[in-house]
Amino acid sequence: MRLLDAVESAVDKPSLRRRWILNAIDGLVLAACAVVAWLDAGIMRWSCIACMVYLICWKVRRLLFPALPTAAIDRLTSDETSRLLERRQVAELWLADMCAARSVRRRPRLLIALTGFASYAPFGHTISIPPSHLTSLTDEDLRLVVAHELGHAQRRWISTWSFSVIAKMKEEILADRFALDVTGSDPAAWVRVMRAVAALEDNGLGEDDAEFEIRRRAIVGWHQRRAARPLAI
Ligand SMILES: [Zn+2]
Repeated sequence: MRLLDAVESAVDKPSLRRRWILNAIDGLVLAACAVVAWLDAGIMRWSCIACMVYLICWKVRRLLFPALPTAAIDRLTSDETSRLLERRQVAELWLADMCAARSVRRRPRLLIALTGFASYAPFGHTISIPPSHLTSLTDEDLRLVVAHELGHAQRRWISTWSFSVIAKMKEEILADRFALDVTGSDPAAWVRVMRAVAALEDNGLGEDDAEFEIRRRAIVGWHQRRAARPLAI
């Protein structure tokens, strides 16, 4: 198989299709909000207007700063392409090990993302990791990223249909716990990975961010409780 064909088969192509589906869903949400804001004069109006402003700001941000590493893949030299494929294969082996350790019946696919961030898609049961993460994270950090996404895959639909801030946060914390548990890592490793991933994804999840602090505290607390209550043999 030619190198280019190998990359072709390893790339998460549906992520482009998914983007259109997500855009369509966002459009429908915007339209629904506009209708409710038009019809309702009470608190619903302001909630809908707030939702519309948030969605529009988010879309504008994505439009101004698109995360499209397709160009990044096209630009790769053959050495870099080989390394990318090699790392993906290694990540796939880790994923297989974790699934075996947790008796996961249906292992998710692991593909190279065409977006700039690591994610899990429930429809294709696919974990996507961008080239930047695959090539620049250390083995330990990449393994934790894969484990975190597998944590989402373990709660496939619940994780996907969690829309409120609290529900989303809960899913992130559960995925973090799963990642630390399955890899045997500690909160210090979590902090290191979050720093490395935040730098790569430019996701604003820095250490002065509220979400970062909530997740860090949750992980530290959970880790301490677990250490205080060792498994009975
Ligand atoms: Zn997550």
